[in-house]
Amino acid sequence: DRLISAENRGEDERFDRAIRPRRLADYRGQPEVREQMEIFIEAARKRGEALDHTLIFGPPGLGKTTLAHIIAEELEANLRQTSGPVLERPGDLAAILTNLEPGDVLFVDEIHRLSPVVEEVLYPAMEDFQLDIVIGEGPAARSIKLDLPPFTLVGATTRAGLLTSPLRARFGIVQRLEFYDEADLAFIVNRSADILNLPVEEAGARQIARRSRGTPRVANRLLRRVRDYAEVRASGTVTETVANQAMDMLKVDPNGFDLMDRKLMLAIIEKFDGGPVGVDSLAAAIGEERGTIEDVIEPYLIQQGFMKRTARGRVATSSAWLHFGMKPPGYRPG
Ligand code: ADP
Repeated sequence: DRLISAENRGEDERFDRAIRPRRLADYRGQPEVREQMEIFIEAARKRGEALDHTLIFGPPGLGKTTLAHIIAEELEANLRQTSGPVLERPGDLAAILTNLEPGDVLFVDEIHRLSPVVEEVLYPAMEDFQLDIVIGEGPAARSIKLDLPPFTLVGATTRAGLLTSPLRARFGIVQRLEFYDEADLAFIVNRSADILNLPVEEAGARQIARRSRGTPRVANRLLRRVRDYAEVRASGTVTETVANQAMDMLKVDPNGFDLMDRKLMLAIIEKFDGGPVGVDSLAAAIGEERGTIEDVIEPYLIQQGFMKRTARGRVATSSAWLHFGMKPPGYRPG
């Protein structure tokens, strides 16, 4: 089981409700996103208009859902939540749209997974607040048009490139979330520990932050596992030593790489001589889905400079070879 996955499991959900920041001011990191959203939200409020449709993209666990909730909270609007794969038929979306109140925020997670017929319904809804739908079949079929209240669609996706261009074009605001730095993650760990009433020393929080793959969800998950370890194997306080021992036990290495990260890098190095290798061959070699490699595993490895995406395929950089104590091809030390 990976520490970071696309899904939010039960334990996460309960814990999430307790620790999820509710206001923009508590949304840590992402300074550019925060500043822009502050301005756009205030402007929309002043004009008494619905905020423009907003697309948020970035790898899992970086705060897309959290930001969607904050947008609704700051607008003092209701949030309706659904997701691409849940909306199977046009009628599913129509039912939600016709129940919206003026100014509501409709959050569609995994918006790249909408079926084409459902997406078609979304276009006029986003553009003109119009519902244009065919009901019935055959000769009895008729098309109805309905006015919808002005609303804000907030869509979330792992990569903007997964969206069709007509859908992407209908978002007035596009925000890309970045991986978090250590200081922001340490702040998030401390905040969560406070809410959990868990004593954490500064150096302990730093260690958790360092090994969190730049991702708040991972930081919070690691904190929970470190808490278990601290309570059972130590005095309950998360010291630097306790944090390190717990994370060693979880096989999260000092770079924050977990088993899947290492498996992927090692496959490129050992099975494909360091690359370039196509993502499909790589997926087959490690028994993972291509989408998981692209959305979950490689973005962090690329951001950290351990992997590169080239026109001919994925390449392990010299940092990756050195990480495993191996000499990169053509490497001259010093
Ligand atoms: P995503 O929707 O991108 O997968 P979430 O919004 O569910 O990610 O965030 C995952 C977890 O990380 C949540 O528990 C949330 O509390 C925490 N989190 C995300 N972004 C931030 C942030 N900017 N500041 C503090 N905590 C955050």
